[in-house]
Amino acid sequence: MNCINKYLNYIFNKGKQDICMKQKPKIKAIILDMDNTLLDFFGYKMKATKAALKAMQKAGLKIDSKKGYGILFSMYYKYGFESRQIFQKFLEEVTGKVDYRLMAAAMIEYRKARDLALTPYPGIKSTLKKLRKKGIKVIIVSDALNLKAWLRLYTAGLENEFDVVITSDMAGGFKSSGKPFKMAVKKLKLKPSEILMVGDSQSRDIIPARKFGFNTCIAMYGRKHKPEMDVPSLSKFSDILKFV
Ligand SMILES: [Mg+2]
Repeated sequence: MNCINKYLNYIFNKGKQDICMKQKPKIKAIILDMDNTLLDFFGYKMKATKAALKAMQKAGLKIDSKKGYGILFSMYYKYGFESRQIFQKFLEEVTGKVDYRLMAAAMIEYRKARDLALTPYPGIKSTLKKLRKKGIKVIIVSDALNLKAWLRLYTAGLENEFDVVITSDMAGGFKSSGKPFKMAVKKLKLKPSEILMVGDSQSRDIIPARKFGFNTCIAMYGRKHKPEMDVPSLSKFSDILKFV
């Protein structure tokens, strides 16, 4: 565990004081994951998917709501949460063909619900402004595609809050490959010890960021379960201000 992790553990899990506590680590940049760290991705996905299913039922699809919702979510896990063919595959699975009237109904209502539900977690915008006012660079590193990331940021009203946005297609690989983090270090021109990575995923955010020597912190508010590893956690995003 590096210095800031010990410091954060001291702040958030009192009693783990050690020598590092005497010096507050100097953080000059924060790298943020986007989905389930800044934006309530699962929350919007659930609301938008329910709206899409309801629209298909209204347009004539005969299926039990609970069953339909379960099939749709299992398809996200099978084909990816970013897949563009979920409704097509869903209709093929439950009716044996694609009825474009049903698919159009699903797409329209999905988009409407998404645009209403895609909001930042509480305190995100004001905290980002405070961080940048302190001179801290704030960047996003996301596994999403560049256009999708910007569409989400604009929908959530966060389009002006970041110095840099790095996505998997820009970097030529996902976070697990380390490529987006390499790009981030190059753009920031800082030492890894001056950078703090905040994300909701242990495997996609915390572990690869630690390989680069970044300080790390897990966004507990974006998770359902406690992390298996020893990592400082934020119960709300604004807690980040306690150590910068
Ligand atoms: Mg995430």
